[in-house]
Amino acid sequence: MTVQQAAHERLAEVGNNVADDYMTLKLLAAGLARVLWERQRVREGVEPTTGLLPQAWRTGVTRLSWRALEQSNRPPMSDMEVFSWCRLPLVSWPVRLDVSHSDADILLIDGQELSAFADEAARLAPKVDVEGELTENQTFAKLQAAAEMHGRTEQEIQRAYVALRLFLIEYPVVSDLDLNKLTGRFNRADRHGRLYVREFFDAAYQYRKGGGPASCRVCSDCGNPLHDGSEVCGTPGCTGVPTIEQLKVLEGYYVQHRGVRVCMHDPGLVEKRLFDGLRHLPKSSARLHEWPGMDACDVAVEFPDPAAPDDSERSEWWAGDAKDYTSATLLGRSFKWDRRMLARHRFLILPQHRFEQRHYVDDLKREMQGRSDGVRVISEGDFLAKARTRALGGTPW
Ligand SMILES: [Zn+2]
Repeated sequence: MTVQQAAHERLAEVGNNVADDYMTLKLLAAGLARVLWERQRVREGVEPTTGLLPQAWRTGVTRLSWRALEQSNRPPMSDMEVFSWCRLPLVSWPVRLDVSHSDADILLIDGQELSAFADEAARLAPKVDVEGELTENQTFAKLQAAAEMHGRTEQEIQRAYVALRLFLIEYPVVSDLDLNKLTGRFNRADRHGRLYVREFFDAAYQYRKGGGPASCRVCSDCGNPLHDGSEVCGTPGCTGVPTIEQLKVLEGYYVQHRGVRVCMHDPGLVEKRLFDGLRHLPKSSARLHEWPGMDACDVAVEFPDPAAPDDSERSEWWAGDAKDYTSATLLGRSFKWDRRMLARHRFLILPQHRFEQRHYVDDLKREMQGRSDGVRVISEGDFLAKARTRALGGTPW
């Protein structure tokens, strides 16, 4: 085999889009997620599996090497070298990566953990199998199943779904006594007597023992548990401070699995702010729909036709997906509008802290060009203001 043939075979292995550096980053991030997960399991006393580095990582490193050669640079000598790059801002990597302005300062590893960017990237990588993804997917499936078991009509099921999903956003930490309230309300059981809601709950939370009143260090705003010593809350956009929460417990309490926190609780904060802002509009002129169709989109507002207020087909519908991504580019490339959700006006709603980030909106719009399905990018504040104007009879546009 000639050198060129060998090169072609290697290229086929890593994909012919080596120039897509976001794909390389997704693969490296998926590999890192796997490595950190394995380490955590070893700390918990589980036997390590193969000891080999994950395939995603190896493919990512190979793609990086190709990129280096293309740039007449020296490819990385070892995995350790690439690991050390992962703690540097992307802009300082020895191999130049084609990433957008708003991603230039991003790290893949931050302290001992995956950065928020790497977390997102890992979830978008092809065929990843990491703990975070599994927990959040299982939680999502069990949430839907529990909702379906607690309603006879579509409306009842939807109401149960909204209540359970809001529970995840409102309670990153739950005492066993609070759990009793949940199981009291959602009390259907399978034929073995196991509560459906308990299946959902156990997928989302892990148990911490501690009798009597338990105290837990949490963020004053978003409620996420904080490590000892950390002075700031790491939740995107959150400006809360550490506080001690006293939990009334019988035997112990529960905290959300990391994957559920990162994928459902934290991005849920903006969804909840939207709901809270829309709930107070007069019902006769604007009706709020939370995660309609069990998540066809995040929020919809129905403005009834005054001539036929009960005919929802004649209403004007606005629908929005709220997304809290670190990377505007990754968001723009992965964003898809759910076709089930028909609406006059469609929005991609950004939390204020993203909307105001430098270059973020420009990078996002550039990535969405040509395939945005008429979806408008808007900040949460602007969306609420426009909905309010429309509800009160003004012209929002
Ligand atoms: Zn916080």
